[in-house]
Amino acid sequence: MNELIKSKGIKIESDSAMKLGMSLPRCLIVLVVTLVGSAVSALELTGALSQGSLLIGRVAPGSTVELMNHQIRVEADGLFVFGLGRDAPSKITLLTVDGREGNQELHEFSVAQREYREQRVNGVPQKTVTPPNEVLERIRQEAVLVKQARSGDGHYRDFLRGFQKPLKGPITGVYGSRRVYNGKPGSPHYGLDIAAPKGTDVFAPAPGVVTLVHRDMFYSGGTLIVDHGHGISSTFIHLSDVVAENGQRVEAGDLIARVGATGRATGPHLDWRINWFNVRLDPELVLKYFPASAE
Ligand SMILES: [Zn+2]
Repeated sequence: MNELIKSKGIKIESDSAMKLGMSLPRCLIVLVVTLVGSAVSALELTGALSQGSLLIGRVAPGSTVELMNHQIRVEADGLFVFGLGRDAPSKITLLTVDGREGNQELHEFSVAQREYREQRVNGVPQKTVTPPNEVLERIRQEAVLVKQARSGDGHYRDFLRGFQKPLKGPITGVYGSRRVYNGKPGSPHYGLDIAAPKGTDVFAPAPGVVTLVHRDMFYSGGTLIVDHGHGISSTFIHLSDVVAENGQRVEAGDLIARVGATGRATGPHLDWRINWFNVRLDPELVLKYFPASAE
């Protein structure tokens, strides 16, 4: 961090996370240090430069940041957050504008492109594979509710506390896989599936505020959303019971729900999703790069 490179937009990469392929990138902090005249501006990113990844950035206080021409909210101290979706492109750009001098810097980063497997899921209720016409309006309305619950841009920073698994159990489904339900190709899987008996306690993986409680959504069954700030949210689905209440603040480790098999599911398991607004992130990458610090 104290090593300054006298050049424009030099990227210092602490690891070879740009490697492609199945293996996930290892720990990465990208530090971009630029000397413009005598003023020093710096862009720091923590996280994996990979599809499905959460990234936490810092710039000089007062700076602005655009990701691919979209303005991202930057806190007064320079903190900002963004996520890379399942199919994020192989190159992204961040434009930073220094608040005092107005100097612009365009930073380009390579994003590791992942390969996703196919998973065949047989035995889900057939109506959840080919939904009858009379439920299409219900499905649309529920999607709006979920979108609203993930749209908050709270100034709180609960995500900085890190994340822990919401329960223990074998992983039976991963992020990004192409799904074939009862023989029919469906949308990809975005959650981390953890198998556990019906009724098993689900604990908050990080602090946050509950923004949605719904006991019976068509696809996701019992559904709970917790907002961790800056558009980062956790969604828990197929629940048999939701313990937390809408609007409630929860702390990491609080009991929030119970495992079920409601909605499009073949058996009891928790499906845990993490979003940056509507961009779906990989919970395993978030756990790996932003683990809750040991108490
Ligand atoms: Zn799932």
